[in-house]
Amino acid sequence: MNIIIFGAPGVGKGTQAKILSQKLNILHISTGDILRDAIKNQTELGKKAKEIVDKGELVPDEIVGEIVKETIRSPKCKNGFILDGFPRNIHQAKILSSILNEISNSEPVIIKLVANDDVIVKRLSSRLICSKCGNILNENEVSDNFICPVCKAKNSYYRRSDDEESVIRKRLAIYHQTTAPVLDYYQNKARIIEVDGTLSIEDVTKEILNKLE
Ligand code: AMP
Repeated sequence: MNIIIFGAPGVGKGTQAKILSQKLNILHISTGDILRDAIKNQTELGKKAKEIVDKGELVPDEIVGEIVKETIRSPKCKNGFILDGFPRNIHQAKILSSILNEISNSEPVIIKLVANDDVIVKRLSSRLICSKCGNILNENEVSDNFICPVCKAKNSYYRRSDDEESVIRKRLAIYHQTTAPVLDYYQNKARIIEVDGTLSIEDVTKEILNKLE
């Protein structure tokens, strides 16, 4: 099964994509994670992307398109994939259609998570991430010498450089202007499932799985 998890930054795409990837045994492809790894490892890609990602702007379509193409065509996707953070505009959606067309795959199912901007700003400005396993917690849940409940790493939680209020607002503006119209592109091409992203993590997963059946 192929899925696009769609919605504004901070709506819970990464969290749900990780869970669904395990439950459905399909590869989680997060273009944001791939770019952040490249930045951390100071690869050529990372050097090109760092400034753009830090400002909350979009990395050029050709660059992310190539990453997605290579990943989707790899054997890791033989059971399917869940795309998180791609496509971010209509051009990227067309790039994806042509990749899938080349390998005779149909359009993915779109899972749209919904939450309003105020909820999102609040969530993102208090979100901390484990540098070892990627688990996400709220800053209230993390203290000095904190041990990650998932991977047991010590003091591993950090704030993403783009989770600062002015950058969050810019990312949301780009989402509304450039990314949300991607849904129009898929309106008559793919199945679109809508789920309330303000429910608990478990309930969002339940809703998605119910609606996918
Ligand atoms: P995310 O983790 O999906 O919130 O992405 C973090 C940042 O990575 C974004 O704000 C962009 O700068 C960059 N990025 C991730 N995915 C894409 C994409 N599909 N197109 C362009 N830039 C992207």
